Amino acid sequence: MSNETIFDKIINREIPATIVYEDDIALAFEDINPQAPTHLLIIPKRRIATSNDIQQDDRETVGHLFWVAGEIARQQGFAEEGYRTVMNCNENGGQTVYHIHVHLLAGKAFGWPPY
Ligand code: 5GP
Repeated sequence: MSNETIFDKIINREIPATIVYEDDIALAFEDINPQAPTHLLIIPKRRIATSNDIQQDDRETVGHLFWVAGEIARQQGFAEEGYRTVMNCNENGGQTVYHIHVHLLAGKAFGWPPY
């Protein structure tokens, strides 16, 4: 399929990644360039390019990504102390991979706003 990204290669096991969660809808793996002690990416297996491209039929899938984030937080023991979820969109949002992903960052206190 055209417009594939590096994340399709991770889904298809064509390149390695440290996978921490998988089900029929989503995959979660460690970010290759972590910005926090825990930095995971949660992606839908079916590619959606940006958050602008989320359609009504995708609402369950996108909600599922955030459910997975909470599930991982509980399993890995940082749900109570807290964490940050981020989805970047396009250039000003800082998106570099055009397959939506929730960044799940934990293990430190994050500042706000994100200058
Ligand atoms: P974005 O900038 O699009 O919000 O986030 C893309 C993220 O994907 C970045 O944090 C980047 O480090 C991560 N990333 C890019 N290429 C790879 C890769 O090949 N493997 C993994 N595990 N992460 C990647």
